[in-house]
Amino acid sequence: MSFRSGFVAVVGRPNVGKSTLVNHMVGQKVAIVSDKPQTTRARILAVVNRPAGQIVLLDTPGIHKPMHRMNQQMVESALSSARQAELVLWLVEVSEAPGPGERFVREQLRRIGHPVVLAINKIDSVRKPRILPAIDAYRRLMDFQEIVPVSALTGENVDRLAELLLAHLPEGDRLYPEDFLSDQPGRLFVAEIVREQILAQTREEVPYSVGVVIDSFAETDGLLRIEASVLVERESQKGILIGRAGQRLKAIGTAARHQIEAQMGARAYLGLFVKVQRDWREDPAILESMGLGADRGAR
Ligand code: GDP
Ligand code: MG
Repeated sequence: MSFRSGFVAVVGRPNVGKSTLVNHMVGQKVAIVSDKPQTTRARILAVVNRPAGQIVLLDTPGIHKPMHRMNQQMVESALSSARQAELVLWLVEVSEAPGPGERFVREQLRRIGHPVVLAINKIDSVRKPRILPAIDAYRRLMDFQEIVPVSALTGENVDRLAELLLAHLPEGDRLYPEDFLSDQPGRLFVAEIVREQILAQTREEVPYSVGVVIDSFAETDGLLRIEASVLVERESQKGILIGRAGQRLKAIGTAARHQIEAQMGARAYLGLFVKVQRDWREDPAILESMGLGADRGAR
Protein backbone atom coordinates (compact mmCIF):
# COMPACT_ATOMS: atom_id res chain seq x y z
CA MET A 1 0.00 0.00 0.00
CA SER A 2 1.40 3.39 -0.97
CA PHE A 3 1.81 6.26 1.50
CA ARG A 4 -0.01 9.50 0.72
CA SER A 5 0.32 13.02 2.08
CA GLY A 6 -0.78 16.56 1.47
CA PHE A 7 -2.50 19.74 2.60
CA VAL A 8 -6.27 19.86 3.07
CA ALA A 9 -7.95 23.22 3.75
CA VAL A 10 -11.06 22.90 5.91
CA VAL A 11 -13.44 25.66 4.80
CA GLY A 12 -17.07 26.61 5.19
CA ARG A 13 -19.39 29.16 6.72
CA PRO A 14 -18.86 30.23 10.33
CA ASN A 15 -20.07 27.83 13.02
CA VAL A 16 -20.49 24.70 10.90
CA GLY A 17 -18.01 22.78 13.06
CA LYS A 18 -14.67 23.15 11.25
CA SER A 19 -12.58 23.51 14.41
CA THR A 20 -14.46 20.70 16.16
CA LEU A 21 -13.72 18.41 13.21
CA VAL A 22 -10.05 19.34 13.12
CA ASN A 23 -9.70 18.69 16.87
CA HIS A 24 -11.45 15.35 16.49
CA MET A 25 -9.28 14.21 13.59
CA VAL A 26 -6.08 15.24 15.32
CA GLY A 27 -7.26 13.65 18.56
CA GLN A 28 -6.31 16.72 20.61
CA LYS A 29 -7.50 20.26 21.04
CA VAL A 30 -5.58 22.48 18.66
CA ALA A 31 -8.34 24.96 17.82
CA ILE A 32 -10.87 26.65 20.06
CA VAL A 33 -14.57 25.97 19.63
CA SER A 34 -17.58 28.09 20.49
CA ASP A 35 -21.29 28.25 19.85
CA LYS A 36 -20.79 31.81 18.60
CA PRO A 37 -19.88 32.24 14.94
CA GLN A 38 -16.50 33.55 13.78
CA THR A 39 -14.49 31.95 16.52
CA THR A 40 -11.48 30.98 14.44
CA ARG A 41 -9.63 34.10 13.36
CA ALA A 42 -6.37 32.86 11.92
CA ARG A 43 -5.31 29.78 10.02
CA ILE A 44 -4.29 26.81 12.21
CA LEU A 45 -2.24 23.93 10.87
CA ALA A 46 -2.79 20.48 12.39
CA VAL A 47 -1.39 17.09 11.45
CA VAL A 48 -3.32 13.82 11.23
CA ASN A 49 -1.19 10.67 11.11
CA ARG A 50 -2.81 7.53 9.68
CA PRO A 51 -1.33 4.18 8.68
CA ALA A 52 -2.02 5.04 5.02
CA GLY A 53 -0.57 8.54 5.11
CA GLN A 54 -0.43 11.99 6.63
CA ILE A 55 -3.07 14.69 6.26
CA VAL A 56 -2.05 18.27 7.03
CA LEU A 57 -5.27 20.09 7.90
CA LEU A 58 -5.58 23.86 7.66
CA ASP A 59 -8.41 25.03 9.91
CA THR A 60 -9.66 28.36 8.61
CA PRO A 61 -11.94 31.23 9.62
CA GLY A 62 -15.49 31.01 8.28
CA ILE A 63 -16.16 32.26 4.76
CA HIS A 64 -18.85 34.95 4.63
CA LYS A 65 -19.38 38.38 3.11
CA PRO A 66 -16.91 40.52 5.11
CA MET A 67 -17.63 43.88 6.79
CA HIS A 68 -14.60 44.88 8.90
CA ARG A 69 -10.98 44.84 7.79
CA MET A 70 -10.51 42.05 10.34
CA ASN A 71 -13.27 40.02 8.72
CA GLN A 72 -11.89 40.69 5.26
CA GLN A 73 -8.55 39.35 6.41
CA MET A 74 -10.24 36.35 8.00
CA VAL A 75 -11.98 35.46 4.74
CA GLU A 76 -8.78 36.17 2.78
CA SER A 77 -6.89 33.87 5.15
CA ALA A 78 -9.40 31.07 4.51
CA LEU A 79 -9.19 31.50 0.74
CA SER A 80 -5.41 31.69 0.79
CA SER A 81 -5.31 28.37 2.68
CA ALA A 82 -7.65 26.86 0.09
CA ARG A 83 -5.38 28.07 -2.72
CA GLN A 84 -2.31 26.55 -1.14
CA ALA A 85 -3.82 23.16 -0.31
CA GLU A 86 -4.07 20.29 -2.81
CA LEU A 87 -7.56 19.43 -1.63
CA VAL A 88 -10.42 21.40 -0.08
CA LEU A 89 -12.70 19.95 2.58
CA TRP A 90 -15.91 21.99 2.56
CA LEU A 91 -18.02 21.57 5.65
CA VAL A 92 -21.75 22.32 5.77
CA GLU A 93 -24.53 21.63 8.27
CA VAL A 94 -27.08 18.90 7.59
CA SER A 95 -29.95 21.01 8.90
CA GLU A 96 -29.30 23.91 6.51
CA ALA A 97 -30.42 23.64 2.90
CA PRO A 98 -27.91 25.18 0.48
CA GLY A 99 -28.63 28.94 0.30
CA PRO A 100 -26.89 32.23 -0.54
CA GLY A 101 -24.09 31.58 2.00
CA GLU A 102 -23.26 28.25 0.36
CA ARG A 103 -23.42 29.77 -3.13
CA PHE A 104 -20.95 32.42 -2.00
CA VAL A 105 -18.54 29.72 -0.77
CA ARG A 106 -19.06 27.75 -4.00
CA GLU A 107 -18.14 30.76 -6.17
CA GLN A 108 -14.93 31.27 -4.19
CA LEU A 109 -14.03 27.57 -4.47
CA ARG A 110 -14.82 27.46 -8.19
CA ARG A 111 -12.43 30.32 -8.75
CA ILE A 112 -9.70 28.44 -6.88
CA GLY A 113 -10.41 25.31 -8.90
CA HIS A 114 -9.03 22.65 -6.53
CA PRO A 115 -10.86 19.35 -6.00
CA VAL A 116 -13.44 19.57 -3.21
CA VAL A 117 -14.71 16.94 -0.77
CA LEU A 118 -17.98 17.88 0.92
CA ALA A 119 -18.66 16.83 4.51
CA ILE A 120 -22.20 17.27 5.80
CA ASN A 121 -21.77 17.81 9.54
CA LYS A 122 -23.89 17.56 12.68
CA ILE A 123 -25.75 14.41 11.61
CA ASP A 124 -26.15 13.63 15.32
CA SER A 125 -28.58 16.54 15.55
CA VAL A 126 -31.16 15.24 13.04
CA ARG A 127 -33.06 12.01 12.45
CA LYS A 128 -31.48 9.65 9.91
CA PRO A 129 -34.15 10.12 7.15
CA ARG A 130 -33.05 13.74 6.79
CA ILE A 131 -29.53 12.85 5.71
CA LEU A 132 -30.17 11.50 2.19
CA PRO A 133 -32.23 14.53 1.01
CA ALA A 134 -29.43 16.79 2.26
CA ILE A 135 -26.87 14.82 0.24
CA ASP A 136 -29.11 15.15 -2.83
CA ALA A 137 -29.55 18.89 -2.40
CA TYR A 138 -25.80 19.46 -2.11
CA ARG A 139 -24.94 17.12 -4.98
CA ARG A 140 -26.61 19.60 -7.34
CA LEU A 141 -24.49 22.51 -6.07
CA MET A 142 -21.12 21.54 -7.48
CA ASP A 143 -19.02 18.62 -8.68
CA PHE A 144 -17.62 17.03 -5.50
CA GLN A 145 -15.00 14.28 -5.25
CA GLU A 146 -17.00 12.80 -2.37
CA ILE A 147 -19.95 13.70 -0.17
CA VAL A 148 -19.60 12.38 3.38
CA PRO A 149 -22.09 12.80 6.23
CA VAL A 150 -20.31 13.12 9.60
CA SER A 151 -20.62 14.23 13.18
CA ALA A 152 -17.55 16.13 14.31
CA LEU A 153 -18.97 16.09 17.83
CA THR A 154 -19.50 12.33 18.26
CA GLY A 155 -16.87 11.30 15.71
CA GLU A 156 -19.36 9.32 13.63
CA ASN A 157 -17.88 8.66 10.17
CA VAL A 158 -14.86 10.88 10.85
CA ASP A 159 -12.41 7.99 10.32
CA ARG A 160 -14.10 7.23 7.01
CA LEU A 161 -13.76 10.88 6.03
CA ALA A 162 -10.03 10.82 6.84
CA GLU A 163 -9.60 7.73 4.64
CA LEU A 164 -11.40 9.39 1.75
CA LEU A 165 -9.33 12.56 2.08
CA LEU A 166 -6.15 10.50 1.94
CA ALA A 167 -7.38 8.67 -1.15
CA HIS A 168 -7.54 12.03 -2.95
CA LEU A 169 -4.06 13.16 -1.91
CA PRO A 170 -0.95 12.40 -3.97
CA GLU A 171 1.53 9.67 -3.08
CA GLY A 172 4.31 11.11 -0.97
CA ASP A 173 6.30 11.01 2.25
CA ARG A 174 5.39 12.53 5.59
CA LEU A 175 5.48 16.34 5.48
CA TYR A 176 5.85 16.76 9.26
CA PRO A 177 7.41 14.55 11.95
CA GLU A 178 4.95 12.05 13.42
CA ASP A 179 4.86 13.77 16.83
CA PHE A 180 4.17 17.20 15.34
CA LEU A 181 0.57 18.16 16.06
CA SER A 182 0.18 21.84 15.30
CA ASP A 183 2.17 24.92 14.33
CA GLN A 184 0.07 27.11 16.61
CA PRO A 185 2.80 28.87 18.63
CA GLY A 186 2.42 28.95 22.42
CA ARG A 187 1.56 32.64 22.50
CA LEU A 188 -1.21 32.42 19.95
CA PHE A 189 -2.58 29.32 21.63
CA VAL A 190 -2.75 31.08 25.00
CA ALA A 191 -4.46 34.09 23.42
CA GLU A 192 -6.98 31.75 21.86
CA ILE A 193 -7.69 29.98 25.16
CA VAL A 194 -8.36 33.33 26.82
CA ARG A 195 -10.64 34.31 23.96
CA GLU A 196 -12.47 31.00 24.20
CA GLN A 197 -13.24 31.71 27.86
CA ILE A 198 -14.46 35.21 27.02
CA LEU A 199 -16.73 33.73 24.37
CA ALA A 200 -18.01 31.17 26.86
CA GLN A 201 -18.56 33.60 29.72
CA THR A 202 -20.01 36.70 28.05
CA ARG A 203 -23.09 37.22 25.89
CA GLU A 204 -23.85 38.78 22.53
CA GLU A 205 -22.35 42.21 21.83
CA VAL A 206 -19.09 41.63 23.71
CA PRO A 207 -17.45 38.58 22.08
CA TYR A 208 -17.04 39.91 18.54
CA SER A 209 -15.35 43.09 19.57
CA VAL A 210 -12.83 41.39 21.84
CA GLY A 211 -9.23 40.76 20.88
CA VAL A 212 -6.48 39.23 22.99
CA VAL A 213 -2.85 40.30 22.61
CA ILE A 214 -0.07 38.58 24.57
CA ASP A 215 2.21 41.27 26.01
CA SER A 216 4.72 39.00 27.71
CA PHE A 217 5.29 35.28 27.78
CA ALA A 218 8.18 33.85 29.77
CA GLU A 219 9.01 30.61 31.53
CA THR A 220 11.20 30.62 34.62
CA ASP A 221 11.71 27.65 36.95
CA GLY A 222 8.74 25.80 35.46
CA LEU A 223 6.37 28.73 35.95
CA LEU A 224 4.80 30.27 32.86
CA ARG A 225 4.37 34.00 33.36
CA ILE A 226 1.90 35.45 30.91
CA GLU A 227 0.49 38.95 30.63
CA ALA A 228 -2.21 39.69 28.11
CA SER A 229 -4.26 42.70 27.02
CA VAL A 230 -7.91 42.15 26.35
CA LEU A 231 -8.96 44.76 23.79
CA VAL A 232 -12.52 46.00 23.59
CA GLU A 233 -14.07 48.81 21.57
CA ARG A 234 -16.20 50.58 24.19
CA GLU A 235 -16.17 51.46 27.90
CA SER A 236 -19.45 49.60 28.37
CA GLN A 237 -17.84 46.38 27.10
CA LYS A 238 -14.95 46.86 29.46
CA GLY A 239 -17.43 47.03 32.33
CA ILE A 240 -19.20 43.86 31.21
CA LEU A 241 -15.94 41.95 30.88
CA ILE A 242 -14.62 43.00 34.26
CA GLY A 243 -17.93 42.38 36.02
CA ARG A 244 -19.03 43.40 39.48
CA ALA A 245 -15.99 43.75 41.74
CA GLY A 246 -13.88 42.16 38.98
CA GLN A 247 -15.63 38.82 39.36
CA ARG A 248 -16.14 38.03 35.69
CA LEU A 249 -12.59 38.82 34.62
CA LYS A 250 -11.35 36.74 37.53
CA ALA A 251 -13.49 33.77 36.46
CA ILE A 252 -12.29 34.10 32.86
CA GLY A 253 -8.66 34.27 34.00
CA THR A 254 -8.96 31.30 36.35
CA ALA A 255 -10.64 29.06 33.77
CA ALA A 256 -8.12 30.04 31.09
CA ARG A 257 -5.20 29.45 33.45
CA HIS A 258 -6.41 25.92 34.29
CA GLN A 259 -6.62 25.08 30.57
CA ILE A 260 -3.21 26.57 29.84
CA GLU A 261 -1.67 24.59 32.70
CA ALA A 262 -3.28 21.38 31.48
CA GLN A 263 -2.22 21.89 27.85
CA MET A 264 1.29 23.18 28.50
CA GLY A 265 2.05 20.92 31.45
CA ALA A 266 3.37 23.77 33.60
CA ARG A 267 2.08 26.02 36.36
CA ALA A 268 1.03 29.41 35.06
CA TYR A 269 0.47 32.96 36.21
CA LEU A 270 -1.95 34.79 33.93
CA GLY A 271 -2.42 38.56 34.20
CA LEU A 272 -5.29 40.01 32.15
CA PHE A 273 -5.67 43.75 31.51
CA VAL A 274 -8.77 45.09 29.79
CA LYS A 275 -8.17 48.08 27.49
CA VAL A 276 -10.52 50.15 25.39
CA GLN A 277 -9.14 50.64 21.89
CA ARG A 278 -11.90 51.75 19.58
CA ASP A 279 -10.64 50.64 16.17
CA TRP A 280 -8.35 47.76 16.99
CA ARG A 281 -10.03 45.59 14.33
CA GLU A 282 -8.73 48.00 11.69
CA ASP A 283 -5.18 48.16 13.07
CA PRO A 284 -2.72 46.20 10.88
CA ALA A 285 -0.08 45.88 13.65
CA ILE A 286 -2.56 44.39 16.10
CA LEU A 287 -3.97 42.03 13.47
CA GLU A 288 -0.42 40.92 12.63
CA SER A 289 0.27 40.11 16.29
CA MET A 290 -2.86 37.92 16.23
CA GLY A 291 -1.53 35.90 13.30
CA LEU A 292 -3.82 37.73 10.87
CA GLY A 293 -1.17 39.55 8.89
CA ALA A 294 -2.23 40.47 5.37
CA ASP A 295 0.46 38.36 3.67
CA ARG A 296 0.47 35.37 5.99
CA GLY A 297 0.25 32.34 3.70
CA ALA A 298 -0.77 28.77 4.45
CA ARG A 299 2.70 27.21 4.62
P1 GDP B 1 -16.40 26.60 13.24
O1 GDP B 1 -16.79 28.03 13.39
O2 GDP B 1 -16.84 26.07 11.90
O3 GDP B 1 -14.97 26.31 13.54
O4 GDP B 1 -17.32 25.81 14.30
P2 GDP B 1 -16.92 25.24 15.76
O5 GDP B 1 -16.07 24.03 15.62
O6 GDP B 1 -16.40 26.37 16.60
O7 GDP B 1 -18.35 24.74 16.24
C1 GDP B 1 -19.46 25.61 16.29
C2 GDP B 1 -20.52 25.00 17.20
O8 GDP B 1 -21.09 23.82 16.61
C3 GDP B 1 -19.98 24.57 18.57
O9 GDP B 1 -20.97 24.86 19.54
C4 GDP B 1 -19.80 23.07 18.41
O10 GDP B 1 -19.88 22.36 19.62
C5 GDP B 1 -20.96 22.71 17.48
N1 GDP B 1 -20.71 21.49 16.70
C6 GDP B 1 -19.62 21.23 15.93
N2 GDP B 1 -19.73 20.01 15.35
C7 GDP B 1 -20.91 19.49 15.74
C8 GDP B 1 -21.60 18.23 15.47
O11 GDP B 1 -21.16 17.35 14.75
N3 GDP B 1 -22.83 18.08 16.06
C9 GDP B 1 -23.38 19.03 16.88
N4 GDP B 1 -24.57 18.76 17.42
N5 GDP B 1 -22.76 20.20 17.15
C10 GDP B 1 -21.54 20.43 16.60
MG1 MG C 1 -13.43 27.53 13.95
